[in-house]
Amino acid sequence: MFPAEKFLIPRPLKTRSEFSVAWFYPNTYTVGMAGLGYQLVFRLLDADEDIGVLRGFTDMEEPGISGASIFGFTFSWELDYANIVSILRKHNIPVSAKERDESHPLIFGGGPVLTANPEPFADIFDIVLLGDAEVAVPSFLSAYREARKASSRRQQLLSLANADGIYIPQFYEVQYHDNAKQGDGSIAAITPSVSGVPAYPRKKVFAPPPDYVAHSMVLSPETAWGNMFLVEVVRSCPQECRFCLASFLTRPFRATNVDALIDAVELGLKHTNKIGLLGPSVTEHPKFDEIAARLRGREDLSLSIASVRADTLSENILSTLVSLGQKSVTIAIESGSERLRSIMKKNLTEEEILHAVSLVEAAGLESIKFYGIAGLPHETQADLDETVRLLTHLKKKHKRLRFVFGISSFVPKAQTPFQWNGRDKDCGKKLEYVRKHLSKIGIDVRPESHNWSDIQALLSRGDRRLHPILKSVEENSGNLGAWKKAIKEANQNIVSMPNVKDYYIFRDIPREEILPWSHLQDEEKTQYLGKHNDSALALSLQSSAQS
Ligand code: SF4
Repeated sequence: MFPAEKFLIPRPLKTRSEFSVAWFYPNTYTVGMAGLGYQLVFRLLDADEDIGVLRGFTDMEEPGISGASIFGFTFSWELDYANIVSILRKHNIPVSAKERDESHPLIFGGGPVLTANPEPFADIFDIVLLGDAEVAVPSFLSAYREARKASSRRQQLLSLANADGIYIPQFYEVQYHDNAKQGDGSIAAITPSVSGVPAYPRKKVFAPPPDYVAHSMVLSPETAWGNMFLVEVVRSCPQECRFCLASFLTRPFRATNVDALIDAVELGLKHTNKIGLLGPSVTEHPKFDEIAARLRGREDLSLSIASVRADTLSENILSTLVSLGQKSVTIAIESGSERLRSIMKKNLTEEEILHAVSLVEAAGLESIKFYGIAGLPHETQADLDETVRLLTHLKKKHKRLRFVFGISSFVPKAQTPFQWNGRDKDCGKKLEYVRKHLSKIGIDVRPESHNWSDIQALLSRGDRRLHPILKSVEENSGNLGAWKKAIKEANQNIVSMPNVKDYYIFRDIPREEILPWSHLQDEEKTQYLGKHNDSALALSLQSSAQS
């Protein structure tokens, strides 16, 4: 236990420990303990009376963690991989799974990065957990108990390989159309390299009981949100915007039971007044009005919610937010162009955006933040101009409100309908175009680094051949310069490697090509994503023909 922590649920009394788990977040304590995902798995592990659980971060660890039988990582942000490598090195564990022997702990990982596409990190992890933690973690623990009876590390992994929601990367072989022999470098096949392991490992999906609610287990003033109690309101999102990982990776959409959610909030309020409602888009909860009504007027409550959909805002919700101390609201519009919003399936009209901003001003909030994305598939200059036009119009109309516009550039994510679409090479120019036009009318424009978005795309659509690049970057401080150098060296020295940036980041991947994560995504889902992608193209062609 770390100083200043308060456990909200009694921990089981542990008189013996069958084995111990080192549970790491690959970033600082402040970041790691502020996330519900890390806390959720900690709670699942810690609930087992016979397992010792020790937590670790990049800046602090519980004593004795080095001696744990297995090391686990939650992996929510691609660029944290360098911290995973550093933690392994610090504990004298070889970075590559192939170099570990009987003296080393098994290394497992889970979380959105690994569930979407674990392949760039396949060399690091002995075991990857796929799917919702509530089912993947218990399945893993029970399989690991059985596997521990096996005589060798390899036999243990073989035993684990058949458990639901478990993927053992080293038991799969990837063949490529060799670039050096005039191939295009694409994947030729992904097949099991040992007999008896599933050809298509599948993720586990949690069907929550009616009273289930995921919430914080530990509060600490040292976390990023400082003693904020987090409650999950929804998982996934029914809107299925075509770029959105949060919607597609965790399908099906699940909404927390309102009574259970309010009970959880009451538990949190016994210890803090800061409550954070979590979910990709919390106002998608079919009974969000009821939740707002039951929280309204609570003087002991300071509420925080992430971004909301413009078309779900109502006077009721906004007045509740104001009564609970919220001064700002965030709306993701993605683009000011009706045409592009329809291509990305944002399901949001300009009228709804205009109405939402009027409601925000009328409710007395001080500021409004918009999210946008430049470089989405099928975007034209006219679409960018539409974004500038819409925000200019809104700013002129709502002079009292402070406007912030956070704009990123499109990163294709594995397991979404836009997984086949490459990044726009002109993203940097597009971000600057928007910034220049909107800054001068008093909007606080906050563009994200397009160079780092390139790296995110590389990791998001990458495969096992990236391992030497990842290793080199980690050894050379992990900054952008290290990435550029490592990519250049790979292009020069690894003959079988296609041009790294063009191949992984910028190209549109042909639909028939085997993707690095094809063996982890069932055919039905691939077809579903393909239909979405086709619809986007058809809408784009249709609008071009009409103009
Ligand atoms: S509304 Fe937001 S959370 Fe929902 S699918 Fe669209 S982008 Fe994702």
